[in-house]
Amino acid sequence: MLKDLEKINIMQFESSFPDEETCFQFLAEHKWKNGFVCRKCGNTHYCAGKSPYSRRCTRCKSEESARSHTFFHNCRINIKEAFHIVHKVLHNPNISTYVLADESGHRQMTCWRMKKLVEKEMQSKDLK
Ligand SMILES: [Zn+2]
Repeated sequence: MLKDLEKINIMQFESSFPDEETCFQFLAEHKWKNGFVCRKCGNTHYCAGKSPYSRRCTRCKSEESARSHTFFHNCRINIKEAFHIVHKVLHNPNISTYVLADESGHRQMTCWRMKKLVEKEMQSKDLK
């Protein structure tokens, strides 16, 4: 998923992700690219859930958001801003977290944690 985010260049980024909706759409497309399977009962039929691009199992009615069980699962900041920070790190792995904090308006600690997560994720992909 991060590899696909990496392919989008800085010029394309703003037009690709102008709002939260487009970020959730991107997440949903990637997490369910092989189809929907309910984590609770294994059913493959779904209808639209309450949050943007979430899916709701038609059998047990459990709902899964586009963000859950993805890289952005535990990310508490706005999804569009999170995409932005991750994208910057992918395109500039040596960027200082102070610069990231300055540009994003988030705490340096928040940016540092996100950067670490990206590095960990990219390393685990390289090993495979
Ligand atoms: Zn189900």
